[in-house]
Amino acid sequence: MDTAIAQRPRRKVLVVEDNELNRKLLEVRLEIHGYEALTTSEGAAALDIAREQQPDLILMDIQLPDISGIEAIRRLKADEQTRAIPIIVVSAFAMSYEKAGILASGCEAYITKPFKGEELAALMERYTGRGAPKARGSAERG
Ligand code: MN
Repeated sequence: MDTAIAQRPRRKVLVVEDNELNRKLLEVRLEIHGYEALTTSEGAAALDIAREQQPDLILMDIQLPDISGIEAIRRLKADEQTRAIPIIVVSAFAMSYEKAGILASGCEAYITKPFKGEELAALMERYTGRGAPKARGSAERG
């Protein structure tokens, strides 16, 4: 474990996205930017993976086959083992009432599909504090 920390492991990002193409695209984008990608297509599975893998960041879709992304975020933020993990919602939703629900869910940031690659990269850097040591609990809350 100590050795792995000394070698500065890549930041882990959990992608929760049920659309296979979108999931693959995000996975490729993450690899390009030097992150390790974990992926799932289901909200409930995301909760388990987050608890077990403690990713540095979660990219969350809203429309999922089981629980909604909003419900998944509420549960992640209600669980002390996962609440400090920043969550960026990546969604095609644009209606204002939907946006209000997303922002009220407790996520740290929101990006609408389609987005510019640099836009997502900047958000990911901001919320994973790349280059800095992992600092759970002191992360910026927005
Ligand atoms: Mn979806």
